[in-house]
Amino acid sequence: MNFELSEQQLMFKDMARKFADQEIAPIVKESLREEKFDTGLIKKLAAQGLLAPHMPEEYGGLGLDYVTSAIIWESLCTASLAVTQASISGPIQPATNLLDAGTDEQKQKYLPAVCQGEKVMSGAVVEPNAGSDSSMIETTAVKDGDKWIINGTKIFITNGEFADIILFIAQKDKSKGLKGLATFICEKDTPGFSSTPQKGKISWRAGSEGTIRFTDMELPLDSQIGETGRALRDALRGIDTARLFLAAGAVGLAQSCLESSMKYAQERVQFGKPIGGHQLIQEIIADMATRIEASRWLTYRVADMKTRGERHIKEMSYAKYFATETALWVATQAVKIHGSFGTIDDYPVGHHYQDAITATILGGTAQMHQLTIGQQLLGITAFR
Ligand SMILES: Cc1cc2nc3c(=O)[nH]c(=O)nc-3n(C[C@H](O)[C@H](O)[C@H](O)COP(=O)(O)OP(=O)(O)OC[C@H]3O[C@@H](n4cnc5c(N)ncnc54)[C@H](O)[C@@H]3O)c2cc1C
Repeated sequence: MNFELSEQQLMFKDMARKFADQEIAPIVKESLREEKFDTGLIKKLAAQGLLAPHMPEEYGGLGLDYVTSAIIWESLCTASLAVTQASISGPIQPATNLLDAGTDEQKQKYLPAVCQGEKVMSGAVVEPNAGSDSSMIETTAVKDGDKWIINGTKIFITNGEFADIILFIAQKDKSKGLKGLATFICEKDTPGFSSTPQKGKISWRAGSEGTIRFTDMELPLDSQIGETGRALRDALRGIDTARLFLAAGAVGLAQSCLESSMKYAQERVQFGKPIGGHQLIQEIIADMATRIEASRWLTYRVADMKTRGERHIKEMSYAKYFATETALWVATQAVKIHGSFGTIDDYPVGHHYQDAITATILGGTAQMHQLTIGQQLLGITAFR
């Protein structure tokens, strides 16, 4: 067992932190106020090689292990978890899904452009009546001669507003339930495809989500990805990587809150001394730091298991559940330490506080991960 970061990991950690400080942090405030994601970041990340660290080099990634990738994601998210997620979610979730389930031809057609930032890809599973329970998916794919006819609606889809390529799940035969679900891929200029941005957000305002509608959209038969009946299992591989990203991102968010709180506690003077000199503030700082360390090592551990190909269902839920709940707690404490200044957007803790709640929802809600852990430990499912 070795807890030291390698020289390569330290190099990527510094490089990603510099990118976060220089390219993301300065634009977050404006993006939040305008509720608008800056798409230019995708190409900037690609130019630095930071867009798809975990993807194989032959498809435009860096071919790095998951611990090093998690270290990069953690550092990027010190500036903004929402902005980083919108920037790199294509290579993380749908591209990983396609990498595992697609044919060589399908992979060559889409992956290099996505991993190099030339095209944006979304993964669309969730619908108005199908959130945590994907068995409720209502989007249909009906075979008509040499094409599929697609109808349905997907909501809260990261970058759904402007993505060039969409990987989505549809029902081919409702009578077969989960076994009737299949994955498909389409491009945004296909007739029958439309999308609108999600507005009015109270959290993740600098990120990007949209609603996608398929109205009698025709796709060639070879636009199905993988086998019918395996869609959810295939999707879970991409979602597993998204969960690792969210755990790492939550550590980065919390780390930024801690750094800002320490600086503020050393500088802000009340009752004749820096507030960091009051024992109650030190208690909060100590609890923040301790919980962040625990989140970080749960995350690195499952990243290592994932790299080695070990079964890690329970451990991924430990990391995603604990790190995101910790980030929410830490961000709340950070705002309190900053007092009224924490409630305005001059300090990063304000937007971290807003975003932290969303991190506990996407990639599987806290309850879904608790149920997964319970099921893994007890051998009894409590999902239904
Ligand atoms: C910023 C953002 C980005 C997103 N990006 C994408 C994307 O790119 N692609 C995509 O497909 N989706 C995306 N989503 C959707 C996200 O995956 C879903 O919101 C999430 O899976 C939860 O579904 P839901 O919101 O419908 O909640 P529900 O499933 O309706 O859950 C509501 C509440 O009930 C609880 N609950 C549900 N079932 C149980 C149970 N059996 N036991 C106990 N509690 C239960 C949940 O934990 C939750 O607290 C995104 C969402 C957000 C906010």
